[in-house]
Amino acid sequence: MKILKFGGTSVGSPERMKKLLDIVNPAERQIVVLSAVSGTTNALVEIASAYSTGDKKKAEILIKELHAKYKDFVDELFATQEGKLNGKELIDYHFNLIASFATELFTPLEEKVILAQGELISTTLYHFYLTEIGVRSKLLPALDFMKIDEDNEPMIDYIGEELGKLLKANADHNFFITQGYICRNSFGEIDNLRRGGSDYTASLIGAAIRADEIQIWTDIDGMHNNDPRIVKNTKPIAHLTFDEAAELAYFGAKILHPQSVFPAQRYGIPVRLLNTMDPSAFGTLISKDGAAKGQIRSIAAKDGITAIHIHSSRMLLAYGFLRRVFEVFERYKTPIDMITTAEVAVSLTIDETRYLAEIEKELNDFGKVTIDTDQTIICVVGDFSMNAHGYVARVLDAVKHIPVRMISYGGSEYNISILVDTNDKVEALRSLHDRLF
Ligand code: ADP
Ligand code: ASP
Ligand code: MG
Repeated sequence: MKILKFGGTSVGSPERMKKLLDIVNPAERQIVVLSAVSGTTNALVEIASAYSTGDKKKAEILIKELHAKYKDFVDELFATQEGKLNGKELIDYHFNLIASFATELFTPLEEKVILAQGELISTTLYHFYLTEIGVRSKLLPALDFMKIDEDNEPMIDYIGEELGKLLKANADHNFFITQGYICRNSFGEIDNLRRGGSDYTASLIGAAIRADEIQIWTDIDGMHNNDPRIVKNTKPIAHLTFDEAAELAYFGAKILHPQSVFPAQRYGIPVRLLNTMDPSAFGTLISKDGAAKGQIRSIAAKDGITAIHIHSSRMLLAYGFLRRVFEVFERYKTPIDMITTAEVAVSLTIDETRYLAEIEKELNDFGKVTIDTDQTIICVVGDFSMNAHGYVARVLDAVKHIPVRMISYGGSEYNISILVDTNDKVEALRSLHDRLF
């Protein structure tokens, strides 16, 4: 069985949605994971934020705007009166639900319900469309099987069991459609897998049912060797290993959700990144093999990084110091990305700053703490094993005109990371691109 995920632009207009049939094959057993129509989740985020600041008027205007867009969408998607009516009823239901939160206490719980509406609408519209044109499909509600635990970690065994039951109960169907991004949490409430989470859904489903292949269909022909939004003349990379792809996704290559490689990697399921606008392009194949020896593969950047520097003479010759530092971050469930140490100081970075004040307060017990916000990690991925010399020098040479705050090398054989001020990101990416490729 194959899993095919289509992102927001791939279902971004009625025309695009109809064109999916050039790619999917309803006669073959497939699970199709859909994102919300492009722009929808951003609009829902805005609506939720208007509610949470008590600006009901703004929420109402935003809801009307989005609702109007969907009315046009439905009108164009369906050809028959019946189709148009069903489509209209569907979107009216969802927009009434979103509007109903104006009278309720607005908490993160309601926010998550609002954010879930985009995928619920896109999948049902697509299912209705297929029904209208006589193509048989089965809608599988992600909220019936996609689940995260109390640490927000996906429960792959549970997902496999519940999805397995649904597939078995619908053994007379070949072609399944489900929502990306949305899930239930350990309280059974509606939740999500964070922005861009539909990739993660596809990988989790693929892993949970041990699919043959996971295909991520998007608006570009695979993973490029740098961020195409910032750097000109980037090129797609035909093969990547799971480790390389995971590193790039985690460190900011937007084409993949940061965690989406791990489930596929765990079960060795190949992932293909493919272009809906150019379906015959090879794209990128991510698998166990494919490491290119002695090459620099790609560059990615992750913004929103905070660097924390702890200076403490008590660290000198002391053991157990780093453990105590790490325990602070563990208590606040805050992951550390980069770390560098000196004899009397340690610098590390985080991207989750919810508990920054609490963390800073506890770290003050160890020594003098300084914090820099608006930092960016630039991650260069390639074959940097010890025998592949000269690469660190080339990377650093390319950024020698930019202040570098931290350098990390040697943690893995395929990553060199540097920390720069976000204001220097664009220049760093361009200069690295010019000199490394
Ligand atoms: P989707 O809505 O299909 O999930 P995304 O917008 O999340 O699509 O991801 C695709 C976009 O990721 C591309 O249009 C591209 O601008 C951006 N992107 C950033 N870095 C890379 C990269 N290294 N390779 C390819 N695309 C990238
Ligand atoms: N619709 C969600 C988002 O925009 C999930 C996704 O597109 O992957 O973040
Ligand atoms: Mg995406």
